[in-house]
Amino acid sequence: MESTDTTNSILERLAQVEPDALALEETPEQRKILTDRVFAFADGLLDGLAQRPVWSGAPGARDDLLAQGIPEEPAHLDKVMDLIVREIDGPGLQPASGGHLGYIPGGGIYPGALGDYMAAVTNRYAGVHYASPGAVHLENMLLRWLCRLVGYPRQALGTLTSGGSIATLVAVVAARDAKEIKADRITRSPIYVTDQTHHCVAKSIAIAGLGEAPLRKVAMTPRHRMDVDALRRTIRSDCEQGLQPFMLVASAGTTDTGALDPLAELADVAQAEGLWYHVDAAYGGAFLLLDEMRPRFQGIEAADSVVIDPHKGLFLPYGTGAVIVREPDHIRASHGLRGVYLQDAGDLFDEPSPADLSPELTRHFRGLRMWLPIQVHGLARFRAALEEKLLLCRLFHERVRSLGFEVGPEPDLSVTMFRWIPRDGTDPAEFNRSLLQAILEDGRVFLSSTTIDGVFWIRLAVLCFRTHRDRIEAVLEVLEREIR
Ligand SMILES: *Cc1c(COP(=O)(O)O)cnc(C)c1O
Repeated sequence: MESTDTTNSILERLAQVEPDALALEETPEQRKILTDRVFAFADGLLDGLAQRPVWSGAPGARDDLLAQGIPEEPAHLDKVMDLIVREIDGPGLQPASGGHLGYIPGGGIYPGALGDYMAAVTNRYAGVHYASPGAVHLENMLLRWLCRLVGYPRQALGTLTSGGSIATLVAVVAARDAKEIKADRITRSPIYVTDQTHHCVAKSIAIAGLGEAPLRKVAMTPRHRMDVDALRRTIRSDCEQGLQPFMLVASAGTTDTGALDPLAELADVAQAEGLWYHVDAAYGGAFLLLDEMRPRFQGIEAADSVVIDPHKGLFLPYGTGAVIVREPDHIRASHGLRGVYLQDAGDLFDEPSPADLSPELTRHFRGLRMWLPIQVHGLARFRAALEEKLLLCRLFHERVRSLGFEVGPEPDLSVTMFRWIPRDGTDPAEFNRSLLQAILEDGRVFLSSTTIDGVFWIRLAVLCFRTHRDRIEAVLEVLEREIR
């Protein structure tokens, strides 16, 4: 009797909630309205990009977003789209613009967005092979392609991450476990970097519990590359003190100056000393696609781990990094743990599953956003665009020097730096800070600055696929105007 009552009350409540629950699935007509609006927004953005300022100092009306709140009932679509246009797309840096020449520019290539869209609509579970063999094969194929680019042996593999920072974390954790840096050894296990090593390395070291390991900032050559002799001396001195050198981090394209460390010589040192050799190619790695650049990367194939950011040099939307390792067992040993609820998920390591090689379990099927643009365009266009970036940077370097600016070293890749030394005795840092401000106010280009050995420099980084010669001319035009 009682059981029937319970069933009846469940059925009654079910009838009450069902209409709202069913409404979460749009009708085809409703779907079309949403899709049309979003695609119209994207078209408007992309068609207007060339004319828009790349930077807006407007603070954005956060109040409107707050007032919109988290509604109980459906919000009006006009209102929602208006908030996106005004509050999200308006203020700050326009990273999709070809005028983005600051930091390390990203991409946002259109088929990448469509790959994301399909990944989300299908909601394919790309964590384990059992759930979506196709998704996992596709991601592993992309990773094996990166491994071949680097010159790794056949068994090499890795994982696609949300970016270079998480990719670095995976590498550092693998290094820690492979070299058995347990608690009692941490303070005796030095790590070798330079002042130009990306800060995500120090961050990963801290997160991996290695914060107490001695971090040695090895001296650099005048071209901001790690000085191999200085490295040898530092290692020798550490060994004399009874320490056991653990890991060497080289940069294949530093963020600040685009400098390439001497990868082959560093590989020799790492091998001779039994160090884990990590190469941070987050920014520079994509230039491996250019035959003429490959000799400059020689030695990268000897790395134990390499990080490459497809959301930089492969022009993808933000949210794609990659770590690859010569010996995948090393990342599997640190990340290949599983719970009993996954007992149906089949042979653990037949075709490796991303979940066994990464901190993530459920994850975005990010392979599709990488695969689709390569299929749509073919690699030749990517190579052309990357070569164009190198040439634009060299062109700028030559031209800015002939305008009388002091310039940094000949660019290794697509980053260069410059500053004006005022003849009237004005403080150079002050002058160049206001020069940078004038560049931003012009609106056509966005540059950023850095400080190296106490000296303020303006940087120019060319990596957005939408950056072409006109933007470089725009920078030169502003500079010429301002120094007059
Ligand atoms: C961008 C960058 C990183 C960090 O990568 P994210 O994708 O921003 O997390 C690491 N190293 C270098 C050299 C970089 O340029």
